[in-house]
Amino acid sequence: MTAPIPRPGILDIAPYQGGKSSSKGATRIIKLSSNEGAFGPSPKAIEALRKSADKLHRYPDGGCDALRQKLAEKYDLEAGQIVCGAGSDELITLLIRAYAGPGDEVLYSQHGFLMYPITAKGVGAVPVTAAETHMTTSVDALLAAVTDKTKIVFVANPNNPTGTYITSAEMARLRAGLREDILLVIDAAYAEFMTGQEDYTAGIELVRAGKNTVMTRTFSKIYGLGGIRLGWCYAPVDVADVLQRLRNPFNVALPTQEAGLAALDDDDFVDACVRHNTETREWFRDEIGKLPGLIAHPSYGNFVMVEFPREAGRDADAANDFLMERGVIPRKIGAYGLSQMLRISIGTQEEMQICLQAIKDFVNS
Ligand SMILES: *Cc1c(COP(=O)(O)O)cnc(C)c1O
Repeated sequence: MTAPIPRPGILDIAPYQGGKSSSKGATRIIKLSSNEGAFGPSPKAIEALRKSADKLHRYPDGGCDALRQKLAEKYDLEAGQIVCGAGSDELITLLIRAYAGPGDEVLYSQHGFLMYPITAKGVGAVPVTAAETHMTTSVDALLAAVTDKTKIVFVANPNNPTGTYITSAEMARLRAGLREDILLVIDAAYAEFMTGQEDYTAGIELVRAGKNTVMTRTFSKIYGLGGIRLGWCYAPVDVADVLQRLRNPFNVALPTQEAGLAALDDDDFVDACVRHNTETREWFRDEIGKLPGLIAHPSYGNFVMVEFPREAGRDADAANDFLMERGVIPRKIGAYGLSQMLRISIGTQEEMQICLQAIKDFVNS
Protein backbone atom coordinates (compact mmCIF):
# COMPACT_ATOMS: atom_id res chain seq x y z
CA MET A 1 0.00 0.00 0.00
CA THR A 2 1.21 3.48 -0.72
CA ALA A 3 0.36 6.47 1.42
CA PRO A 4 0.84 10.24 1.15
CA ILE A 5 4.40 11.33 1.92
CA PRO A 6 5.10 14.69 3.58
CA ARG A 7 7.63 17.02 1.97
CA PRO A 8 11.33 16.50 2.80
CA GLY A 9 12.39 17.85 6.17
CA ILE A 10 9.07 17.57 7.97
CA LEU A 11 9.72 14.15 9.48
CA ASP A 12 13.11 15.42 10.73
CA ILE A 13 11.33 17.83 13.05
CA ALA A 14 11.46 16.96 16.73
CA PRO A 15 8.07 18.37 17.79
CA TYR A 16 8.29 21.38 20.10
CA GLN A 17 7.72 20.34 23.69
CA GLY A 18 6.04 23.03 25.75
CA GLY A 19 6.79 23.40 29.45
CA LYS A 20 5.07 20.84 31.64
CA SER A 21 2.07 22.05 33.62
CA SER A 22 1.17 19.17 35.91
CA SER A 23 2.86 16.73 38.24
CA LYS A 24 1.12 13.63 39.55
CA GLY A 25 0.53 13.58 43.26
CA ALA A 26 1.63 17.14 44.02
CA THR A 27 -1.06 19.14 45.81
CA ARG A 28 0.10 22.58 44.76
CA ILE A 29 1.61 23.21 41.35
CA ILE A 30 4.14 25.98 40.87
CA LYS A 31 4.63 26.25 37.14
CA LEU A 32 7.98 27.82 36.33
CA SER A 33 8.46 26.13 32.98
CA SER A 34 7.32 28.58 30.28
CA ASN A 35 8.38 32.15 31.24
CA GLU A 36 4.74 33.15 31.51
CA GLY A 37 5.13 35.96 34.02
CA ALA A 38 4.69 36.07 37.79
CA PHE A 39 1.52 38.15 37.99
CA GLY A 40 -0.79 36.48 35.48
CA PRO A 41 -2.35 38.49 32.67
CA SER A 42 -2.66 42.27 32.67
CA PRO A 43 -5.95 43.06 34.51
CA LYS A 44 -6.92 45.53 31.80
CA ALA A 45 -6.49 42.80 29.21
CA ILE A 46 -8.74 40.43 31.19
CA GLU A 47 -11.45 43.08 31.37
CA ALA A 48 -11.27 43.77 27.62
CA LEU A 49 -11.31 40.07 26.83
CA ARG A 50 -14.51 39.58 28.87
CA LYS A 51 -16.17 42.47 27.09
CA SER A 52 -15.27 41.04 23.69
CA ALA A 53 -17.44 37.97 24.33
CA ASP A 54 -20.58 39.64 22.91
CA LYS A 55 -18.85 40.14 19.57
CA LEU A 56 -17.58 36.63 19.02
CA HIS A 57 -19.81 36.10 15.97
CA ARG A 58 -17.88 38.88 14.17
CA TYR A 59 -14.72 38.24 12.22
CA PRO A 60 -11.79 40.20 13.57
CA ASP A 61 -10.22 43.11 11.75
CA GLY A 62 -7.89 41.15 9.48
CA GLY A 63 -5.34 43.95 9.34
CA CYS A 64 -5.22 44.54 13.11
CA ASP A 65 -5.41 48.25 12.27
CA ALA A 66 -6.22 49.60 15.74
CA LEU A 67 -3.51 47.50 17.31
CA ARG A 68 -0.90 48.50 14.77
CA GLN A 69 -1.84 52.15 15.20
CA LYS A 70 -1.49 51.92 18.95
CA LEU A 71 1.85 50.11 18.74
CA ALA A 72 3.05 52.74 16.28
CA GLU A 73 2.18 55.55 18.70
CA LYS A 74 3.66 53.78 21.70
CA TYR A 75 6.99 53.03 20.07
CA ASP A 76 7.06 55.88 17.56
CA LEU A 77 6.91 53.58 14.52
CA GLU A 78 5.24 53.52 11.11
CA ALA A 79 1.98 51.56 11.47
CA GLY A 80 2.33 50.35 7.87
CA GLN A 81 5.53 48.54 8.77
CA ILE A 82 4.00 46.64 11.69
CA VAL A 83 2.56 43.17 11.13
CA CYS A 84 0.65 41.32 13.85
CA GLY A 85 0.55 37.57 14.26
CA ALA A 86 -0.84 34.78 16.41
CA GLY A 87 2.20 34.97 18.66
CA SER A 88 5.62 35.88 17.38
CA ASP A 89 5.88 32.19 16.50
CA GLU A 90 3.56 32.86 13.57
CA LEU A 91 5.72 35.73 12.37
CA ILE A 92 8.85 33.60 12.61
CA THR A 93 7.07 30.95 10.55
CA LEU A 94 5.88 33.46 7.94
CA LEU A 95 9.37 34.95 7.61
CA ILE A 96 10.89 31.53 7.02
CA ARG A 97 8.16 30.53 4.56
CA ALA A 98 8.66 33.78 2.67
CA TYR A 99 12.44 33.90 2.52
CA ALA A 100 13.78 30.33 2.79
CA GLY A 101 13.04 27.17 0.85
CA PRO A 102 14.44 23.71 0.13
CA GLY A 103 18.22 23.60 0.52
CA ASP A 104 18.52 27.16 1.84
CA GLU A 105 20.24 27.73 5.16
CA VAL A 106 18.70 29.36 8.22
CA LEU A 107 21.41 30.40 10.64
CA TYR A 108 21.07 30.90 14.38
CA SER A 109 23.05 30.67 17.56
CA GLN A 110 24.01 27.37 19.23
CA HIS A 111 21.55 27.66 22.12
CA GLY A 112 19.02 29.72 20.18
CA PHE A 113 15.24 29.39 20.31
CA LEU A 114 14.00 26.01 18.97
CA MET A 115 11.28 27.52 16.79
CA TYR A 116 13.97 28.53 14.27
CA PRO A 117 15.15 25.01 13.36
CA ILE A 118 11.64 23.58 13.67
CA THR A 119 10.22 26.02 11.15
CA ALA A 120 13.26 25.90 8.87
CA LYS A 121 12.90 22.13 8.55
CA GLY A 122 9.21 22.60 7.85
CA VAL A 123 10.03 24.32 4.55
CA GLY A 124 12.88 21.95 3.68
CA ALA A 125 15.55 24.49 4.65
CA VAL A 126 18.65 23.52 6.60
CA PRO A 127 19.08 24.91 10.13
CA VAL A 128 22.73 25.84 10.82
CA THR A 129 24.08 26.80 14.23
CA ALA A 130 27.04 28.98 15.19
CA ALA A 131 28.93 28.30 18.43
CA GLU A 132 28.40 30.63 21.38
CA THR A 133 31.01 32.13 23.68
CA HIS A 134 30.15 32.02 27.40
CA MET A 135 26.56 31.09 26.56
CA THR A 136 26.26 34.25 24.51
CA THR A 137 25.60 34.82 20.81
CA SER A 138 28.92 35.24 18.99
CA VAL A 139 28.78 37.68 16.08
CA ASP A 140 32.10 36.38 14.75
CA ALA A 141 30.87 32.78 14.82
CA LEU A 142 27.64 33.74 13.06
CA LEU A 143 29.50 35.64 10.36
CA ALA A 144 31.92 32.76 9.89
CA ALA A 145 28.99 30.35 9.43
CA VAL A 146 27.42 32.30 6.56
CA THR A 147 27.49 30.55 3.18
CA ASP A 148 26.09 31.27 -0.29
CA LYS A 149 22.96 29.45 0.82
CA THR A 150 22.28 31.51 3.94
CA LYS A 151 18.93 33.29 3.65
CA ILE A 152 17.98 34.24 7.20
CA VAL A 153 19.88 34.82 10.44
CA PHE A 154 17.91 34.71 13.72
CA VAL A 155 19.19 36.27 16.92
CA ALA A 156 17.04 36.17 20.05
CA ASN A 157 18.17 39.14 22.11
CA PRO A 158 18.11 38.51 25.03
CA ASN A 159 18.14 34.82 24.20
CA ASN A 160 15.97 32.10 25.63
CA PRO A 161 17.03 29.83 27.37
CA THR A 162 20.48 31.31 28.09
CA GLY A 163 19.23 34.74 29.22
CA THR A 164 22.23 36.54 27.74
CA TYR A 165 22.22 39.44 25.26
CA ILE A 166 24.50 41.16 22.80
CA THR A 167 24.89 44.94 22.69
CA SER A 168 23.36 47.14 20.03
CA ALA A 169 26.90 47.78 18.73
CA GLU A 170 27.45 44.04 18.32
CA MET A 171 24.10 43.64 16.58
CA ALA A 172 25.00 46.49 14.22
CA ARG A 173 28.34 44.80 13.53
CA LEU A 174 26.49 41.60 12.68
CA ARG A 175 24.20 43.44 10.29
CA ALA A 176 27.12 45.21 8.65
CA GLY A 177 28.95 41.93 8.18
CA LEU A 178 26.03 40.11 6.55
CA ARG A 179 25.29 40.27 2.83
CA GLU A 180 22.49 42.70 2.07
CA ASP A 181 20.27 39.93 0.71
CA ILE A 182 20.34 38.05 4.01
CA LEU A 183 17.40 38.78 6.29
CA LEU A 184 18.38 39.44 9.92
CA VAL A 185 15.57 38.70 12.37
CA ILE A 186 16.03 40.12 15.85
CA ASP A 187 13.71 38.26 18.21
CA ALA A 188 13.19 40.68 21.08
CA ALA A 189 10.62 38.63 23.02
CA TYR A 190 12.19 39.72 26.33
CA ALA A 191 13.05 43.33 25.44
CA GLU A 192 10.72 44.80 28.07
CA PHE A 193 12.67 43.09 30.85
CA MET A 194 15.91 44.82 29.88
CA THR A 195 16.27 47.57 32.43
CA GLY A 196 19.37 49.61 33.02
CA GLN A 197 21.35 48.11 30.12
CA GLU A 198 22.23 51.22 28.18
CA ASP A 199 24.16 49.27 25.58
CA TYR A 200 21.01 47.34 24.61
CA THR A 201 18.32 48.17 22.06
CA ALA A 202 15.58 45.96 20.69
CA GLY A 203 16.73 46.69 17.13
CA ILE A 204 14.25 49.26 15.81
CA GLU A 205 17.09 51.46 14.54
CA LEU A 206 18.45 48.59 12.43
CA VAL A 207 15.01 47.97 10.92
CA ARG A 208 14.86 51.65 9.98
CA ALA A 209 18.38 51.73 8.57
CA GLY A 210 17.86 49.27 5.74
CA LYS A 211 15.67 46.81 3.87
CA ASN A 212 16.78 43.60 5.47
CA THR A 213 16.27 43.59 9.25
CA VAL A 214 13.10 42.64 11.16
CA MET A 215 12.38 42.93 14.88
CA THR A 216 9.79 40.58 16.45
CA ARG A 217 7.99 41.16 19.75
CA THR A 218 5.41 39.32 21.82
CA PHE A 219 2.59 39.87 24.29
CA SER A 220 3.29 36.43 25.77
CA LYS A 221 5.98 37.43 28.24
CA ILE A 222 5.67 40.93 29.72
CA TYR A 223 1.86 41.12 29.39
CA GLY A 224 1.26 37.53 30.47
CA LEU A 225 -0.90 36.82 27.43
CA GLY A 226 0.68 33.66 26.01
CA GLY A 227 -2.70 31.93 26.09
CA ILE A 228 -4.33 34.25 23.55
CA ARG A 229 -1.41 34.29 21.07
CA LEU A 230 -0.33 37.78 20.06
CA GLY A 231 2.93 38.96 18.60
CA TRP A 232 4.05 41.67 16.20
CA CYS A 233 6.99 42.64 14.11
CA TYR A 234 8.49 45.82 12.75
CA ALA A 235 9.78 45.29 9.24
CA PRO A 236 10.99 47.23 6.21
CA VAL A 237 8.11 48.20 3.88
CA ASP A 238 8.73 45.41 1.37
CA VAL A 239 9.06 42.70 4.01
CA ALA A 240 5.89 43.90 5.76
CA ASP A 241 4.12 43.73 2.40
CA VAL A 242 5.28 40.14 1.88
CA LEU A 243 4.06 39.10 5.33
CA GLN A 244 0.68 40.77 4.79
CA ARG A 245 0.23 38.78 1.58
CA LEU A 246 1.27 35.49 3.14
CA ARG A 247 -0.59 35.57 6.47
CA ASN A 248 -4.03 34.10 6.92
CA PRO A 249 -6.75 36.74 6.38
CA PHE A 250 -7.87 36.67 10.04
CA ASN A 251 -4.74 35.47 11.76
CA VAL A 252 -5.27 37.34 15.03
CA ALA A 253 -8.51 36.52 16.89
CA LEU A 254 -10.92 39.28 17.85
CA PRO A 255 -10.65 38.82 21.65
CA THR A 256 -6.90 38.76 21.27
CA GLN A 257 -6.86 42.11 19.49
CA GLU A 258 -9.11 43.70 22.12
CA ALA A 259 -7.06 42.32 25.00
CA GLY A 260 -3.84 43.41 23.34
CA LEU A 261 -5.11 46.95 22.90
CA ALA A 262 -6.04 47.15 26.57
CA ALA A 263 -2.74 45.66 27.67
CA LEU A 264 -0.85 48.41 25.87
CA ASP A 265 -2.55 50.91 28.21
CA ASP A 266 -1.48 49.02 31.31
CA ASP A 267 1.81 50.75 32.04
CA ASP A 268 1.45 50.27 35.80
CA PHE A 269 1.22 46.52 35.29
CA VAL A 270 4.30 46.50 33.07
CA ASP A 271 6.30 48.58 35.55
CA ALA A 272 5.32 46.32 38.44
CA CYS A 273 6.23 43.20 36.44
CA VAL A 274 9.61 44.53 35.41
CA ARG A 275 10.50 45.70 38.91
CA HIS A 276 9.39 42.44 40.48
CA ASN A 277 11.23 40.41 37.86
CA THR A 278 14.56 42.17 38.26
CA GLU A 279 14.49 42.12 42.07
CA THR A 280 13.32 38.55 42.41
CA ARG A 281 15.61 37.21 39.71
CA GLU A 282 18.70 38.74 41.29
CA TRP A 283 17.68 37.63 44.79
CA PHE A 284 17.07 34.10 43.50
CA ARG A 285 20.43 34.00 41.69
CA ASP A 286 22.23 35.15 44.85
CA GLU A 287 20.55 32.44 46.90
CA ILE A 288 21.30 29.71 44.35
CA GLY A 289 24.90 30.91 44.22
CA LYS A 290 25.25 30.12 47.93
CA LEU A 291 24.50 26.44 47.35
CA PRO A 292 27.51 24.19 46.83
CA GLY A 293 27.97 22.95 43.27
CA LEU A 294 25.21 25.05 41.69
CA ILE A 295 25.64 27.98 39.31
CA ALA A 296 22.86 30.47 38.60
CA HIS A 297 23.84 32.01 35.29
CA PRO A 298 23.34 35.73 34.67
CA SER A 299 20.03 36.44 32.96
CA TYR A 300 18.29 39.44 31.46
CA GLY A 301 14.96 37.67 30.90
CA ASN A 302 12.19 36.51 33.24
CA PHE A 303 13.97 33.23 33.91
CA VAL A 304 17.26 31.88 35.22
CA MET A 305 19.39 28.96 34.06
CA VAL A 306 20.64 26.90 36.98
CA GLU A 307 23.57 24.58 36.31
CA PHE A 308 23.89 21.33 38.26
CA PRO A 309 26.90 19.02 38.67
CA ARG A 310 27.23 16.33 35.98
CA GLU A 311 27.02 13.58 38.53
CA ALA A 312 24.31 10.90 38.56
CA GLY A 313 21.80 11.62 41.29
CA ARG A 314 23.00 15.25 41.64
CA ASP A 315 22.47 16.37 38.07
CA ALA A 316 19.79 18.46 36.38
CA ASP A 317 17.64 15.42 35.59
CA ALA A 318 17.65 14.32 39.22
CA ALA A 319 16.90 17.88 40.36
CA ASN A 320 14.04 18.08 37.88
CA ASP A 321 12.50 14.86 39.22
CA PHE A 322 12.92 16.04 42.81
CA LEU A 323 11.31 19.43 42.13
CA MET A 324 8.49 17.87 40.12
CA GLU A 325 7.60 15.62 43.04
CA ARG A 326 7.22 18.76 45.14
CA GLY A 327 4.97 20.32 42.51
CA VAL A 328 7.64 22.79 41.36
CA ILE A 329 7.93 22.56 37.58
CA PRO A 330 11.15 23.79 35.95
CA ARG A 331 12.11 23.35 32.29
CA LYS A 332 14.59 20.75 31.14
CA ILE A 333 16.62 22.20 28.28
CA GLY A 334 18.52 19.24 26.91
CA ALA A 335 16.91 19.98 23.55
CA TYR A 336 18.97 23.20 23.54
CA GLY A 337 22.19 21.29 24.19
CA LEU A 338 22.07 22.29 27.86
CA SER A 339 21.25 19.05 29.65
CA GLN A 340 23.27 20.12 32.74
CA MET A 341 20.87 23.04 33.30
CA LEU A 342 17.31 23.68 34.32
CA ARG A 343 15.58 26.84 33.22
CA ILE A 344 13.45 28.32 35.98
CA SER A 345 10.97 31.10 35.25
CA ILE A 346 10.61 33.91 37.78
CA GLY A 347 7.32 33.53 39.62
CA THR A 348 5.95 35.37 42.66
CA GLN A 349 8.19 35.88 45.68
CA GLU A 350 6.34 33.09 47.49
CA GLU A 351 6.67 30.69 44.56
CA MET A 352 10.39 31.39 44.33
CA GLN A 353 10.82 30.82 48.08
CA ILE A 354 9.18 27.42 47.72
CA CYS A 355 11.29 26.65 44.65
CA LEU A 356 14.47 27.69 46.45
CA GLN A 357 13.62 25.56 49.47
CA ALA A 358 13.01 22.55 47.20
CA ILE A 359 16.40 23.08 45.52
CA LYS A 360 18.08 23.38 48.94
CA ASP A 361 16.42 20.14 50.05
CA PHE A 362 17.61 18.49 46.84
CA VAL A 363 21.19 19.65 47.39
CA ASN A 364 21.08 18.40 51.01
CA SER A 365 19.33 15.14 50.19
C1 LIG B 1 8.56 33.03 24.26
C2 LIG B 1 9.39 33.36 23.09
C3 LIG B 1 8.81 33.84 21.92
C4 LIG B 1 7.36 34.19 21.90
O1 LIG B 1 6.56 33.30 21.38
P1 LIG B 1 5.03 33.68 21.13
O2 LIG B 1 4.73 32.88 19.92
O3 LIG B 1 4.94 35.15 20.87
O4 LIG B 1 4.29 33.26 22.34
C5 LIG B 1 9.61 34.16 20.85
N1 LIG B 1 10.94 34.04 20.92
C6 LIG B 1 11.54 33.62 22.05
C7 LIG B 1 13.02 33.58 22.10
C8 LIG B 1 10.78 33.26 23.16
O5 LIG B 1 11.37 32.81 24.25
